[in-house]
Amino acid sequence: MRREEMVRRLRQRFEAQIPWDIAVIGGGATGVGVAVDAASRGLSVALVEAHDFGKGTSSRSTKLVHGGVRYLEQGNIPLVMSALKERGLMRQNAPHLVHDLAFVVPNYSWWEAPFYGVGLKLYDLLAGKYGFGASRLLSKEETLARLPALEPEGLTGGVVYFDGQFDDARLLIHLAMTAADLGATLVNYCPATGLLHDIDGYVNGVTARDEETGEILTIPARIVVNATGVFTDSIRRMADPGAEPLVVTSQGIHLVFERSFLKGDTALMVPRTSDGRVLFVIPWHGHAVAGTTDTPVDAPSLEPRPLDEEIEFVLETAGRYLTPPPTPADVLGVYVGLRPLVQGEGKTSALSRDHVLHVDPSGLLTITGGKWTTYRHMAEDCVDHAITLGKLPDVECVTRNLRIHGYTEDAGAFGSLEVYGSDAEAIRTLAQDPSLAVQLHPALPYIAAEVVWAARVEMARTVEDVLARHTRALFLNANAAIAMAEPVARLLAAELGRDEAWITAQVQEYCALAEQYRVV
Ligand SMILES: Cc1cc2nc3c(=O)[nH]c(=O)nc-3n(C[C@H](O)[C@H](O)[C@H](O)COP(=O)(O)OP(=O)(O)OC[C@H]3O[C@@H](n4cnc5c(N)ncnc54)[C@H](O)[C@@H]3O)c2cc1C
Repeated sequence: MRREEMVRRLRQRFEAQIPWDIAVIGGGATGVGVAVDAASRGLSVALVEAHDFGKGTSSRSTKLVHGGVRYLEQGNIPLVMSALKERGLMRQNAPHLVHDLAFVVPNYSWWEAPFYGVGLKLYDLLAGKYGFGASRLLSKEETLARLPALEPEGLTGGVVYFDGQFDDARLLIHLAMTAADLGATLVNYCPATGLLHDIDGYVNGVTARDEETGEILTIPARIVVNATGVFTDSIRRMADPGAEPLVVTSQGIHLVFERSFLKGDTALMVPRTSDGRVLFVIPWHGHAVAGTTDTPVDAPSLEPRPLDEEIEFVLETAGRYLTPPPTPADVLGVYVGLRPLVQGEGKTSALSRDHVLHVDPSGLLTITGGKWTTYRHMAEDCVDHAITLGKLPDVECVTRNLRIHGYTEDAGAFGSLEVYGSDAEAIRTLAQDPSLAVQLHPALPYIAAEVVWAARVEMARTVEDVLARHTRALFLNANAAIAMAEPVARLLAAELGRDEAWITAQVQEYCALAEQYRVV
């Protein structure tokens, strides 16, 4: 993906006065999923993202590809079944990024084994042919063998079940590359600034500002899809300033620790915390990630901040199960994500987790809610509606069996480059230059060649893009990622043709941001 080429295509199409079939606003899982679906049906599609692809919620998830055990408890069987099917399709289409993971629910009361044991059998049953493995009851010894760091005092046993795990930002980048491979035009750092209307007042395009040049781009389109997550209502108000809000925002935090806090390869799942929420502690990229919370927030932000009480809650709850209990000094990083929940009454954890398609009187098509795991199904639903509304050619969805960029079945052979899948070979070739084989920090596996690859092929533009999403350094170890800023800025500057002043500004800007990912 080359940004200059993408911008050129937008300009060229406007000059030729040929509308795109679909213009998408928002480059998270939802918007990029729509771009993949539309492009794979042969539709012309342009997507604009205000920041880097995946900057919003889609890089800040719990990293689970799951049916949602919690929704089972709420009796939402159709949601669970649909998500379990999508879980299976995601593993089938992106085996280099989606892996099975065993989860243990530890039992400290006599009633938990039969209660969770039966519930998780139902979970297995609903997955049908898309199952990841059979759940079963564990003795106390078996539970401790799987989770040696678990608090043994009062433990009666456990239940093991299976779900999927992934690297969310990496899948997002590979989805953007899939869309680009299929002919879609995607531009990052290009916020939508307004909507175009025809003489009847229907939305028929988008204006967007190229943040790198200040140029205003005009993108005429038969249908405009609003896929901006927690920013959904701000786009809807571009068409109708009086539009009633559709989403409310809830925030969730995760803390990252050394892997030693979760010995073994099994994740811990606490189905009911002291205030009725779910808490996971999962192994991820050689670390342990614990979360999440569910706290209502007033206004969306691209860089939400953790609340002290959220940090305390995760530390305290995780500390009840892990020995030794982690302290604030053990936190290597904290990251925060915002959920767009479809408007309703009451506590945010009781609001709808289903996706919603909404058509405003202006014809603006909004898709929001849902979850990462169901992005493909959401996109299919959205493009089906876009075809009807925009009178576009009736082509069937083909993404059920569409391989995602990087697809390979034995990515494990690429070691620390595994997440790149089939692209790992090209990165290895780059690393034949000894200066690009250099590891950027001893605490993390990332090498200089990955920075060059991110800039040349994946449209990374800033130090933050490289350290937060193209690699996951910022999420895994904020201090290490701060130390990596300058070498990364120099590598990027060489690729993007930037000067010394740019390097200084990038390092300063990035280090100020990275402070928010530290706890002490
Ligand atoms: C804490 C947390 C944990 C989660 N864990 C999981 C999980 O483990 N598994 C799972 O399946 N799901 C999980 N989810 C849900 C999942 O992450 C979200 O459903 C999904 O990422 C939402 O994607 P999105 O594209 O709708 O939103 P986003 O990823 O937020 O994308 C919206 C994009 O729109 C862009 N944008 C905004 N305004 C404009 C504009 N004017 N012009 C252009 N672009 C604009 C933003 O920059 C942003 O990139 C979790 C959610 C949270 C909050």
